[in-house]
Amino acid sequence: MTHETSDVLIVGGGIIGLSVAYELGLQKLSVTVLERSQMGQEASSAGAGILAPRSEMEEAGPLAQLLLASHKVYPDFLRRVSAQSGATVDFNVSGLLSVALTPEQEAELERKKEQQASLGLDVQPLSREEALQMESCLNPQLLSALYFPEEGYLDNRELVEAVRLACARLGLQLVPGCEVLSVTAEQGKVSGVETNLGFYAAGCVVIAAGSWSGQVSTGLPYALPVRPARGQMVAVTMPAPPLRHVVYGSQSYLVPRKDGRVLLGSTVEWVGYDKRVTLEGVQQITTAALALSPTLSSSAFLDSWAGLRPYCEGGLPVLGPAELGGLYYATGHFRNGLLLAPITAKLLCDVIVSGNISRLLEPFLPSRFAPSLSSLPSRSATETFRALGRLE
Ligand SMILES: Cc1cc2nc3c(=O)[nH]c(=O)nc-3n(C[C@H](O)[C@H](O)[C@H](O)COP(=O)(O)OP(=O)(O)OC[C@H]3O[C@@H](n4cnc5c(N)ncnc54)[C@H](O)[C@@H]3O)c2cc1C
Repeated sequence: MTHETSDVLIVGGGIIGLSVAYELGLQKLSVTVLERSQMGQEASSAGAGILAPRSEMEEAGPLAQLLLASHKVYPDFLRRVSAQSGATVDFNVSGLLSVALTPEQEAELERKKEQQASLGLDVQPLSREEALQMESCLNPQLLSALYFPEEGYLDNRELVEAVRLACARLGLQLVPGCEVLSVTAEQGKVSGVETNLGFYAAGCVVIAAGSWSGQVSTGLPYALPVRPARGQMVAVTMPAPPLRHVVYGSQSYLVPRKDGRVLLGSTVEWVGYDKRVTLEGVQQITTAALALSPTLSSSAFLDSWAGLRPYCEGGLPVLGPAELGGLYYATGHFRNGLLLAPITAKLLCDVIVSGNISRLLEPFLPSRFAPSLSSLPSRSATETFRALGRLE
C-alpha cells in the first residue's frame, strides 16, 4: 500500500521527532511522523526533565554551546507550544544545588566552579548552613554546595503531550503503530520509507528514532553507532516541606514535581535494549538518594521505571544531513535530549528549509562516521559537503 506523499517524513515520535515536526509544520511543510508504538512513550517519558546546561557540561566546546543555546530558546519554545496546543507544561527555573558530601566531591565542585567562572557563567558557592537553609531535607553533614540559579526542570510527560497536540493542531499526520524498516532512494536521493504499513513517499526523511536510530536501513555505507544506555528511575512521596530545587549528588539526583512527588535518578547501564527495573538499580538509586537526603527514609515508594538514552559513539548528538540527498539525522542526545529538543528542532528546520549548515550544527554532522570522509582530516564537514555538492 502506498500512502499520500509528504514533504517530510519523521522516523520516531519521541520528543526529538515531534519537536522537529512541529518546527517544520510552522513553516507550512506537510509532515508525517511515523512511530512504531505510541508517541513519546520511550526515553522521552522516562526522563527526569532536568534542564541543566551548566551542571551537565563537562568542558567548554560545541556540546556546551548547544546545551546553552537550547536553554536560551526554551521559554519561547514552550510559549509557542502551549499557545498552539492549549496545554500547559510545568516548567520551573527553580535553581539547582550540587552537593558535596566528601572531600573528593568538594574538590570536584571546586573544579566545576572554576570552569563556570572561566566561561563567565553564574554559579554561587554555598556553605553547609546556606545549603541547608535552601533545602532543609539535605544531609546535615554535607560539606558545601554549588548553586546554579538558572537551572531548573519541567514535567517531560506534559511536554511530550503538549508538542504532540501542537503537531496535531498544525494538521501534521501522526501515525502510531508504524515501524519504519528502510529508507528508499532513487538516483542518490531519498524517495520515501518502507514500513509495516506500506510505502510512504517523501523527498526528505529525518531519522529521530532514539536508541534505535542505527537500525533503520538507509543504504549508507555505515550504520550510525547509536546504542542504548539504560536509566532507571524511582518516584517517592516527599515528607514535608516539599523539595524546591533540583539536587545533584555525585551518584544521584532529586527532582521535584508539582504534585509533591520527588523523582530519584538514575543509573547509566550498558545492557542493550533491556528496559527492566532491577533490584540492584533501585538499591543504587535509593542508597545514593538517602545519603543526599536522609529525611527521604520515611517517604513512600510510588513507582519505578526505566528508559533507554540514545548514546552515540563519542558522546555527541548526530544532527543534520547525511550523504544521501534528503536524508537527515536528529539523534544521539543521550542524557540531555529533553533539554536539547528546542535547538535540535530549530537547527534541523533551518537546514531542511534553507540548506544552511550553521556553525552550531557543524560539529554534529553524521559525516563524522563516514569511513571515506573521515580520511579527509584537513577538511571541515562543511567543505566536505560542498565538495559532494550537498551545499551551495
Ligand atoms: C532515566 C532517564 C533520565 C533522563 N533525564 C533527562 C533529563 O533530566 N534531562 C534531559 O534533557 N534528558 C534526560 N534524559 C534523556 C532524554 O530522555 C533523551 O535524550 C530523549 O528523550 C531522547 O529523545 P528521542 O526522541 O531521541 O528518543 P525516544 O524518546 O526514545 O524516541 C524515539 C522513538 O522512536 C521510535 N522508533 C524507534 N525505531 C523506530 C522505527 N524503526 N520506526 C518508527 N519508530 C521508531 C521509538 O518507539 C520511540 O518512540 C533521560 C533519559 C532517561 C532514560
